[in-house]
Amino acid sequence: MNAFLVDIGGTWTRFRNGSNVERVATPSKLRHPHRASSALARELVLLLAERVPTNTDAHVSLGAAYDPETDIAYGSGPLWGTGRHDIPFRRLLERQRPDVRWTVTNDVTAGLAHFTKMYARSADRQVMYVTISSGIALRTAQLPSRRIHVNAEGLQGEVGHLPATSTAIEAVRGLTCECGGLGHIAAISAGPAIPHVAEKLGLDGYNQPRNSEDGAPTELDERLLRVIVEPIANLIRTAVALQPHIDLIGIGGGVPSGIGTRYKHELHRQLSTAQSYVDRQPNEGPRLLLVSPDQVRPENGAALMAQGYLENVK
Ligand SMILES: [Zn+2]
Repeated sequence: MNAFLVDIGGTWTRFRNGSNVERVATPSKLRHPHRASSALARELVLLLAERVPTNTDAHVSLGAAYDPETDIAYGSGPLWGTGRHDIPFRRLLERQRPDVRWTVTNDVTAGLAHFTKMYARSADRQVMYVTISSGIALRTAQLPSRRIHVNAEGLQGEVGHLPATSTAIEAVRGLTCECGGLGHIAAISAGPAIPHVAEKLGLDGYNQPRNSEDGAPTELDERLLRVIVEPIANLIRTAVALQPHIDLIGIGGGVPSGIGTRYKHELHRQLSTAQSYVDRQPNEGPRLLLVSPDQVRPENGAALMAQGYLENVK
C-alpha cells in the first residue's frame, strides 16, 4: 500500500499518492497576510484531513521549525507570520483524522534525508542541505552514523534570520525581514525579498515573469543576482570553514531552481573566488549540487524519516 505524502510550503502544498500528484495553494500568512495564524493553522490541518485516504500512513514535510519529539511547531514566517506559535501539528491531524497514522518532519530535515538518499556516496562524512525558497534554512547530517545533531528544541541550522554577510549598498543591507529584524539573510536572499532588493538597487523596470513555485523570477539583472547570492555563498563558506568534513552540499528550493543555471554559475563563481589564504582550492572543496523539486522531494524525505533513515540527536 502506498503511503500518502505531503509537502507543506509557504506557497504551495503538494500531495503525492502513488503516481498522483496534486498541488494546492497553502492557506498561509504569505498568501493571506491579514488572517490570524491560529485560523490559518486550523485551515491547513483541515486541508490535509479532507484529502488523506482512510486508514493509511501519511508522512508530512512541514515548512516550519518543528520538534518531532515533542510535536511542537515553534513557528514559520511564511506559514504563520512572525513570533512563536507552539502548534502541536501532528496531534491536530490525529484529532481530525484518528484513522490515519501520521508522521510530521521538518521540511529541511526531510529534504536532507531525500538528498542524502539520492546523492551521498559511501565515503561522504557529512552532508549539508540548504533550502532557499520563501524561507532559508540548512541541515547537516553526520554519516555514516546518520545522525542530525539538534538543540534542546530539536532544531539545527535555522540560519535564515542570522545577519547577512553582504557587501551590497546600505539600503539593501538595511532591508526589513519578514520576522521584523534588519539585514537578515532571508531579507536579501529568500524569494519574497527579491523584489525589495531590486527596488533598493533602483531596478525600476523590475517586473519579471515568475513561474517557479516560490515566486522567484526566471530572468533577472546581473547585479541583482550577485546581491541575492552573496549571503548564501558566504553562509556556505562559513559552514565549510567550521565543519571541514562536509563532503557534499545540496542547494534546493524555489529560488535556485526557479532561476536555474545562472544561479548555479553565480554561486560557483562567488565560492571559487579566493578571499584569503585559508580558502581551499576549488577542487578540494565539497561537491556542490543544485537540485530541483523533482530531484529532491521533501515528502519522500518525510517517508524516509518515518523509517528512521536519519536520526535527530539532542
Ligand atoms: Zn529575519
